[in-house]
Parts: sequence; structure tokens; C-alpha cells
Amino acid sequence: MKIARVRHEGRVLAARVDGDRVYPVVPEEDRFMADAVRDLIADGTARETLGAEVPGVPLADVELLSPLAAPQKIVCIGLNYADHIRETGLETPKVPLAFVKTAHCLTGPTAPVRVPRGTTEQLDWEAELAVVIGRTARDVTAEEAASHVFGYTVANDVSARDAQFSDVQWFRGKNFDDFCPLGPFLVTADEIADPQDLAISARVNGVTVQDSSTKEMIFGVAETISYLSRYMTLYPGDVIATGTPHGVGMGREPKLWLRDGDLVEVEVAGVGLLSNRVELTG
Ligand code: ZN
Repeated sequence: MKIARVRHEGRVLAARVDGDRVYPVVPEEDRFMADAVRDLIADGTARETLGAEVPGVPLADVELLSPLAAPQKIVCIGLNYADHIRETGLETPKVPLAFVKTAHCLTGPTAPVRVPRGTTEQLDWEAELAVVIGRTARDVTAEEAASHVFGYTVANDVSARDAQFSDVQWFRGKNFDDFCPLGPFLVTADEIADPQDLAISARVNGVTVQDSSTKEMIFGVAETISYLSRYMTLYPGDVIATGTPHGVGMGREPKLWLRDGDLVEVEVAGVGLLSNRVELTG
């Protein structure tokens, strides 16, 4: 099943997507940190509830939003593709290198990435496969991990490299507003035969800049969930962004930074496509 959060006729709803039709089922409450999809995952009824027979509307008639609005956490794994590590010149981590983005960064699959003018001169993209937790995971083995996965989606781990590396840690450079385009849908795990065999790519203004496979991950999805769950409980709706392959702007020669009006497309085959335009504001 493909699950979306959509804005339709002024309301936000959790919906099922089937081809070019959307079936909006559950209205989201209009309150701080409301997230209809997270709540359906947490109460274990997402598939059943969203499978309801309701009138469909054309996909073109709704605005696709980030499929999750307020996950309890978004854990990102840095330096998780060997080819990306080489381009950064950094050392290969011995264990998954985890950092965090918070929910305020989330934005939709076609929304602009709005960046206040003057806040960064080194705006970069990172194509990533994102995993969404389905069942609470605490100290699970890699073998058990798959049964805790709800599904997959696509993330762009937008990064301001100057802010990222001028601070001791990465929080500011990874957490501007709009720095986590997510979507376009959550694809349930049963539709993804092997998360470690998916083509992953990025394009800037139509030119391919990243072109790799999730086969190249150092720590795979199952191992990453197991590792994190030794230290922290992973809750339903939590997102794990699993790192990016080579070809980010800072790894290129000459370096390529995003500018006002640039269109960034991030795609994971079989999972979806993000298409976000950079918009400098102020
Ligand atoms: Zn990343």
C-alpha cells in the first residue's frame, strides 16, 4: 500500500494512493504536532483504516505533503556509503554515525526548500532511502529488525555545509527549516522485496549528480535498526534516513552549491521521487 498525507479542499488527510487516484480517509486534527499517519502506524490500524472504501479523487487534485508531519525522531546516518566517504575525505565509521533532524525540517515532495538569503553559501543535497518504523523497537537483533519496519520513503537530507562544519556538531547545518523533503508516499514494506537492492539517484536541473544503489551501504537497514535500538527506543513513525551515496555538491570538483531556483530531484526506484525547488527568501 502507498500512504500519503494530502491537502484536499483545504483539509489535511491521511490517504491511500492507488495509481493516479487518491483515497483520503482520515482527517488530521488541526493542532500542534498532529500527525494522522504517525497515529495510524502507532495504533496498528494504518492498513485496515486506510483500506476503507471511500470516494477517490485524482492525484492531480491534491497537494502531497510530507507523509509524516511529526515523527518522534528522524535519525540520520552519516557516511554510510563507501563512495561518499571517499569524496568527503573522512574516515569510515566503525559503527553507524547517527545524528538527528527534527520534525520542523520536514516538507513535502514538491514543496520549495526556502532558505533565508545570507544564511549559507554552501547549500547541498543528499539523496537517501528513509525507513519508517512500524512497531516499537528496543534492543532488537538485525534478524528481528525487518518485522519492526512499516515501510520506506525518500528523503533529501539537505545540508548547509558551511554551517555543518563550522560548528562542533552538525545540528544547525542539518536543521534549517525545509531541510528534510520527504515522500512522496510511504510504501509499505511488503512492496519492497529488498531494501538493499534499490537504485538511488539525484538530479540538479535535470543533470544526474548521484547515481548509485542501496547495495553500497556500509550498514544496511536491519543492522542500523538493531544498532540504534540498543541505545534508544525506536517508536512507530520514527524515520531513519540511511545515508547518501557519492555525488553530493561538496564532493565534486569544482564544488557545486545549490542556488536560487535550482530544481533538485531525488529518486529511489520503486519508492518514489522528490522534486523540490530552492527558493531564497528575504
Ligand atoms: Zn545524510
